[in-house]
Amino acid sequence: MSYYGKWKKFKTSGAFRRRVVRNMTEIMKENATISTQGSFDKQQSVMPLVDEKCVSDLQLPSPEMEKIVPENYANDKEVQMNWLLELEEDEGGEDNCNETLSKDNNVQFLNNFRLWANTFNIRHRALKSIINVVNTRFPNILPKDPRTLLQTPPAKVVLQKMGEGYYWHQGFEVCLKNCFDKIRTYTSLSITLNIDGLPIYKSSKDEFWPILFNIFEIPHLHPMIIGIYSGKGKPPDIKTFITPFVEEMKLILEHGILFENGHHLKISIRCFVCDSPARSFIKGVANFNGQHGCLKCTTVGEYSYLTHCNVFPRIDCPKRTDEGFRLKMYGSHHKCATPLEELPINMIEDFPIADSLHLLDLGIMKRCLMGWRDGTFRNFNMKWSANDIYGVSQYLRGCRLPSEIHRAVRGLECLPHWKGLEYRSFLYYIGIVILKKYLPRDVYEHFLLLFCAVTICSSPRVH
Ligand SMILES: [Zn+2]
Repeated sequence: MSYYGKWKKFKTSGAFRRRVVRNMTEIMKENATISTQGSFDKQQSVMPLVDEKCVSDLQLPSPEMEKIVPENYANDKEVQMNWLLELEEDEGGEDNCNETLSKDNNVQFLNNFRLWANTFNIRHRALKSIINVVNTRFPNILPKDPRTLLQTPPAKVVLQKMGEGYYWHQGFEVCLKNCFDKIRTYTSLSITLNIDGLPIYKSSKDEFWPILFNIFEIPHLHPMIIGIYSGKGKPPDIKTFITPFVEEMKLILEHGILFENGHHLKISIRCFVCDSPARSFIKGVANFNGQHGCLKCTTVGEYSYLTHCNVFPRIDCPKRTDEGFRLKMYGSHHKCATPLEELPINMIEDFPIADSLHLLDLGIMKRCLMGWRDGTFRNFNMKWSANDIYGVSQYLRGCRLPSEIHRAVRGLECLPHWKGLEYRSFLYYIGIVILKKYLPRDVYEHFLLLFCAVTICSSPRVH
């Protein structure tokens, strides 16, 4: 099909044509070099793609120039084949305009086109559409596939099916080799690992579960990705999910990493930093709010029918130990075996439980505020009136917190949408001031116990 025929389809849409002209004029003005052999006037009358000003800027190269496949997509077999086929068609057809394209100008044109697409972050769909339009006017001046134009490297991602989702494993060694320049002066490094789930979209249950690490000795080096599971919800089971990582780490912890230039690096695992749900998942133990959920001691929780939660009244229980954990001595604490036990780490000490976000801020503080506002602590005759809620909200909105705290606290009407930092500010700073006026004395004193406990435990002097 000749480009005249193709153009008839497009020129019926005025808006589409104007948009194309607007975008393309800028590029064509500087880059396109077209040999018209006296036929440009004919084309222009049929297809006014480029305005007169633009046409006057176009160069007219000599007719002896050869038609050359642009270098940028000369390796693409499909593009090359199509280009050759259409070249033959053009040469034999009635609409042959004897266009010859300068190789250098073509390369320059492609580079500018690629730069434009990258600068404005043009989507592949839009890019394909404009490539079709340009190729209709100047056959095969651009590769048909946007990926060829943008020189997108071929995908080398190897995904392995894992339950309902997929797992991609980059590997620990690859990460370190990629940043060798920054670690070349070290002979041993310790790493901090993190495993957690994060939602990808608001409207679906798709989650990423990346295995990340950073280097303790070089804190400014950004965290690196060992592998990612993607699927709906958690990985199917901890054994399948973490085995590729454990198998690789076993060898690295034993032998270290040998780089191409002979540099040898010893690696040790410092700890696993995870939030409470992820921590119990990777250790294969009871959830943190279960009766056997304490990771550090052998206390057993008691269900309170008064507050409908597990409470842990004992504080003198024996501590859990690495040996005891590996021998599965803790009964209901263990849910399943975890491949992490194959690593030379301490299964108790190397899993710090500092997770104030889930336990304190989004945990107890959120529960208390929701309870006081909505009266959901049914067994306590405690519910703020509308007047109380208004007073607390007004106070919160007017609060001026220290400059270290970047998020202002909103009113109680936004309570379900409060971020962890807002609950944290309330617990650490605002609560003791405002609650004295709005809580009964016994409830306020109970809150003060919590305040004192978290303040003392958060103090650097304690550690
Ligand atoms: Zn405990």
